[in-house]
Amino acid sequence: MKLTLGRTWLFNPYLQLSLFAFISLSCSETGRRAENSTAEQQTVPIAKPVSEVKPASVVIKPEPAPTNVPEATIANAATISARKQVPVLCYHQIRNWTSRDSKSAKDYIMPEETFRAQLKMLADSGYQTILPDQLYAYLATGAPLPPKPVMLTFDDTALDQYAVAAPEMERYGFKGVFFIMTVSLGRPRYMTRAQVKELADAGHVIGSHTWDHQNVKKLKDQDWVTQIDKPTKQLEAITGKPVKYFAYPFGLWNPAAIPELKKRGFTAAFQLSTKRDPEEPLFTIRRTIASGFWSPRILHNSMVERFK
Ligand SMILES: [Zn+2]
Repeated sequence: MKLTLGRTWLFNPYLQLSLFAFISLSCSETGRRAENSTAEQQTVPIAKPVSEVKPASVVIKPEPAPTNVPEATIANAATISARKQVPVLCYHQIRNWTSRDSKSAKDYIMPEETFRAQLKMLADSGYQTILPDQLYAYLATGAPLPPKPVMLTFDDTALDQYAVAAPEMERYGFKGVFFIMTVSLGRPRYMTRAQVKELADAGHVIGSHTWDHQNVKKLKDQDWVTQIDKPTKQLEAITGKPVKYFAYPFGLWNPAAIPELKKRGFTAAFQLSTKRDPEEPLFTIRRTIASGFWSPRILHNSMVERFK
């Protein structure tokens, strides 16, 4: 079952203004800081928006199973956890550093040349990008993958992911996953709806990263509608495709969030580098942030060391 919400709010200028009034650039800055720290250190609250916005209507409708994998063929959690992990890389901004970028921010800002060198290393080393449906089928059923699989993921909707990263990936036939924070769509230095659709049409996967980058551990009641249900519907309307995959803002998750995501039809969810939930490995898939300081060699070592 999935909640289906009226989309009136999308087209209501008053609501749009109210929504955007909450936002400041500090949202993604906060995200970067927290994603770089350990999971429990996140203390900075972001905008407090959400419960004010009421959906015009709430309709509950049955949804098909999230994937084509029959439930009876899905392995148990222990079997899934025992499979060799696929390296999943997490990128944020792809742009050259400026004098205003702090040392810690540079972990999240990948200079263009560094990004090109990292992709070239992956291609030269025989890596092939895979998409979440392939990863899910592998984890859930043991379906085969290419011999050297890697997944490239991009968080937070930065424009340079579309303008710089996607064309560079195209050179190698690489496809990636873009986890969109929908509040940012159309804002300066962020992707537009049309650009997100273009990425989806080109074979990349569009996933959800909440409305305005909230920690799912703090979501209550109506927050789930604002942070999860509405962004899902918006992204599905933009791309014409189902949104089945989720990335936790700041990489933060707790066991209580997982059934909330499941009942909303998500197939799997991605965290950062903390230990997976032994009961729910598909909803705590690990990623590593590819640091702007990493040479291709360090990236490769990290992929080998961190995904066993
Ligand atoms: Zn994020």
